[in-house]
Amino acid sequence: MATPLTNEEALAYHAEPTPGKLAIGVTKSFKSQHDLSLAYTPGVAVPCLAIEKNPEDAYRYTAKANLIGVVSNGTAVLGLGDIGAQASKPVMEGKAVLFKKFSDLDAFDIEVDTKDVERFCSVVEAIAPTFGGINLEDIKAPECFEIEKRLAARLDIPVMHDDQHGTAVISAAGIMNACRLTGRDIKTLRIVIVGAGAAAISCARLYRYLGVENIILIDSKGVVHTGRSDLNVYKTEFAIKVPISQSDAFDGAHVVVGLSRPGTFSTDDVKRMAENPVVFTLANPTPEIMPELVREARPDAIVATGRSDFPNQVNNVLGFPFIFRGAVDVRAKAINTEMKIAAAEALARLARTEVPAYLNELYGTALTFGRDYLIPKPFDKRLIVEVSSAVAAAAIHTGVARAADFDIDTYRKELAD
Ligand code: NAP
Ligand code: MG
Repeated sequence: MATPLTNEEALAYHAEPTPGKLAIGVTKSFKSQHDLSLAYTPGVAVPCLAIEKNPEDAYRYTAKANLIGVVSNGTAVLGLGDIGAQASKPVMEGKAVLFKKFSDLDAFDIEVDTKDVERFCSVVEAIAPTFGGINLEDIKAPECFEIEKRLAARLDIPVMHDDQHGTAVISAAGIMNACRLTGRDIKTLRIVIVGAGAAAISCARLYRYLGVENIILIDSKGVVHTGRSDLNVYKTEFAIKVPISQSDAFDGAHVVVGLSRPGTFSTDDVKRMAENPVVFTLANPTPEIMPELVREARPDAIVATGRSDFPNQVNNVLGFPFIFRGAVDVRAKAINTEMKIAAAEALARLARTEVPAYLNELYGTALTFGRDYLIPKPFDKRLIVEVSSAVAAAAIHTGVARAADFDIDTYRKELAD
């Protein structure tokens, strides 16, 4: 278990030795007057004109190809809520650090001070030429759905709202592996999702895409059903026809995914579930229900949380660095559902393979595929190879990749170096 940290330590980490967590690096020689003339005027005009003539040359002569914009308006920051654009900056800088450290993508954090959907989209659209991809972050539901949809339609670079899809991809990987352990077919699962916000809707969409027909959403007003007049269009996508209670929803369910807040379901609910229930209690930092209570109520449960101090952490860092890596490396025009599923399958497969010694050492335990190790660990060096190459291959296969003659085997070797 990680050592608990203090507020003073967190503030000092961010303040010293320089404020913030990021700085810009220079990748070219810059020692002489000649270098100055190359890096800036007059030399710089040559690639400018090349790009003017052929915009694709931006990938060749600028840092665009390896640069992600981490863009937020600060309306749904971690579990802190709407703290505003400026206050969200440490989180966005942190996301940029994770991109750099896990997949060597550079990222600029961009905090946009507006809650207006169209204004936000116009700003991102206008600055998009800078970037090879846009990671939308910590934008509240339901606006996040429309923002992502508009930007994905308007931009020809990968756009992904991580709070939605990261969770969907990683929880799907966990569910795939839970199915392996329990001998169930994912298509026959009965899944209850507690929460109907950014993460929940995206999870429901991805599970449905994977063939799950029986999905019930529960929000703060209860089960999402067509008799309710307060539903937004996103909840309506999953509204069931019969107005049942929360207990009814849990009766015989195979899987519950909590994406809400602490205390929204109980051991009584979990006791109603089918044999070998899969209980993903993902509210952060405090889960809907603590894992030990789930196990006490249901010793046959397979449990996951969003936290690093329990087994099976659904951690978005397993997804976004590698999904964007694969997407930008094939110059994908988008991150489509097939690419997300490829990422989930790659994660699930990786967890089923033998764990290298350095990882067991790092985590101080012998990790073997099973109830307590369904999902890979963030410091697994194979993640970048497996997930990014799977995403790249899916992009090629679905026709959204623009890179010509891209060889996946060569790419895997490059990623492994
Ligand atoms: P969100 O968009 O604000 O959604 C929260 C949802 O919880 C809303 O739909 C809300 O209902 C619902 N809710 C509130 N009280 C409830 C109750 N008593 N019963 C049932 N549902 C209730 O937030 P989000 O971004 O989706 O995140 C939700 C939670 O998941 C957060 O705790 C977040 O930290 C966690 N999360 C974890 C991971 C991870 O582990 N990797 C990833 C993403 C999110 P209304 O719609 O009626 O308001
Ligand atoms: Mg986030």
